[in-house]
Amino acid sequence: MRVLLTGGAGYIGSHTLLKLLRQGHEALVLDNFSNSSPRALGRVKQLAQADFEVREGSICDAERLDQVFAEFRPEAVIHFAGLKAVGESNEKPLHYYAQNVSGSITLLAAMQKHDCRQMVFSSSATVYGDAAYLPYDEAHPLQPTNPYGRTKLFIEEIIRDWAASWPDASAVLLRYFNPVGADPSGQIGEDPQAIPNNLVPYIAQVAVGRLPFLSIFGGDYDTRDGTGERDYIHVEDLAAAHLAAVSFGHSQTGCEAINIGTGHGTTVLELLRAFERASGRKVPHKIVAERAGDVARSFASVTKARTLLGWQAERNLDDMCHSTWNWQSRNPDGYDA
Ligand code: NAD
Ligand code: UDP
Repeated sequence: MRVLLTGGAGYIGSHTLLKLLRQGHEALVLDNFSNSSPRALGRVKQLAQADFEVREGSICDAERLDQVFAEFRPEAVIHFAGLKAVGESNEKPLHYYAQNVSGSITLLAAMQKHDCRQMVFSSSATVYGDAAYLPYDEAHPLQPTNPYGRTKLFIEEIIRDWAASWPDASAVLLRYFNPVGADPSGQIGEDPQAIPNNLVPYIAQVAVGRLPFLSIFGGDYDTRDGTGERDYIHVEDLAAAHLAAVSFGHSQTGCEAINIGTGHGTTVLELLRAFERASGRKVPHKIVAERAGDVARSFASVTKARTLLGWQAERNLDDMCHSTWNWQSRNPDGYDA
């Protein structure tokens, strides 16, 4: 299939692109490189031994989208592009709504204009907010607690209405839990532009000596060891979920939201120990106050992904830590080296 990847140069997009190319799909990446490096795409090209198109541009630019759709005539769009920093979304909510929500509307309009009927969207477990029960299943109430999460919820609702208005359209809303890890080659991985907000890139940068220690946000949660519990999902498994979603959407119409996780929670301390084993390095840390807005425990019900997509996670915590360390130790300064 011909697949357009918005935000395809980013962390999850680059891993998905590699898998798509290896399965013989044609791809075009549209990215404004606001949070990624074109070097990631060069490395994907080498790894895949396959070529693909790249266009610099924003999903907010209707003219640019028009050109890209006219030239490439995609049969499906995987829509990764967006801003994703929770803290920044509290400071600049309008910027987040303009880029994420308005950009997605512009993209959907271009799809409709060019008769592209299939969408896979990068949503997030953050749409659920505080847990009314666990595991989170797709019927759990949707109450995101910050502007970033609300952009994801609003986009989901807009895509749902778009799909309902067009009998031929198909949409899969993938609600990712906590994506971590890297391609086993160590050539592509997560490369945060500033100090990482997320746990695993933070630990990796401490282990490689870029940061002095990890602050663990809260040691008194109602969990096995008092630290926060999350459902970490290997980015390679996540990439495979996108391929399964593209294939599912090809033979369906309508709109489905589907959790993508492992179904198991891991605490901060468990993750830290696993990373120390994988890297052979000590990760200095101290327990500090809880981070505002954090929930104690989050993990997915994965039944729907198994049933509808025939997909389930195959990689474990050690695979996640080993591949992260392989990427970070080979590229201590990310793509800038
Ligand atoms: P990323 O920042 O690495 O990738 C996003 C890509 O989109 C970047 O290459 C960026 O340059 C590009 N981009 C941003 N705004 C754009 C615009 N207006 N036009 C064109 N390109 C634009 O992030 P990621 O971790 O790969 O996440 C991909 C998607 O998955 C995002 O939508 C994110 O919200 C969602 N998501 C990520 C996580 C996570 O923990 N990484 C969890 C849940 C959901
Ligand atoms: N966390 C932490 N220190 C950090 C970053 C995160 O202790 O520097 C904890 C955080 O409180 C949560 C877990 O690690 O319990 C995962 O946080 P992350 O920001 O990676 O993901 P999210 O909050 O989106 O689940």
